[in-house]
Amino acid sequence: MTTYAVIGGTFDPVHLGHLSIARDVLEQTEVDEVIFMPAKLQPFKLDEEISSFEERYMMLKIACAERDGLSVSRLEKDLEGVSYTYRTLDELRERLKKDDELWFITGSDTFTKLDTWTEAEHLLRTNSFIACDRPGYPVEELEAKRQEYFEKYGTRSVVINNERLDISSTMIRERVREGRPIDKLVTPGVEKYIQANGLYKQD
Ligand code: NAP
Repeated sequence: MTTYAVIGGTFDPVHLGHLSIARDVLEQTEVDEVIFMPAKLQPFKLDEEISSFEERYMMLKIACAERDGLSVSRLEKDLEGVSYTYRTLDELRERLKKDDELWFITGSDTFTKLDTWTEAEHLLRTNSFIACDRPGYPVEELEAKRQEYFEKYGTRSVVINNERLDISSTMIRERVREGRPIDKLVTPGVEKYIQANGLYKQD
């Protein structure tokens, strides 16, 4: 039996904040492998200009090869249409062994809004969640929502500590455009890939 945890996102590019979540999940839970799931079409970012799936996937491949316990999935690339999480997790479960376990990782704020996502009831009934408790986020709100999901849908959830780093993909793209260093924000391999492929040079 293998326990997997999926972290979904745009990852344009993947940065040390994303990797810190994966590290904290591996350290604080029984999860054997964290699967990075780059979105083909993130439902809330449909009108944003983003790098191609292949470029974002390659950067994730490079970052994951630099650490243990991490992998990248191409699943959302292969699915038609918008990348709704309920569907991604249904499809992924079909591909795992019967006794494998699957969790989905979210920040605390995102966790409390899962009941607004597409097919929320199905999502919350059929999946288990790892919520990252971030300093400054009201713990009572997170706990109240965990209780509410459990009572309404039987949703299993656990909380881990994750200090959200002051890094965002937007910040990295801006720094590259302005010719400023990004070596403290991404892994060495990802930095090389961005330079070699001339990513984020233009607005
Ligand atoms: P994102 O901004 O690309 O971030 C990916 C993950 O990294 C999130 O869990 C985010 O936590 C975390 N993160 C980002 N910066 C961080 C930092 N500096 N330090 C620590 N953690 C950091 O992801 P997204 O665009 O919100 O999408 C997340 C997933 O939700 C995707 O799989 C997307 O498809 C899914 N989604 C689904 C629906 C739907 O099904 N209707 C709607 C919206 C999103 P936070 O959660 O705290 O941001």
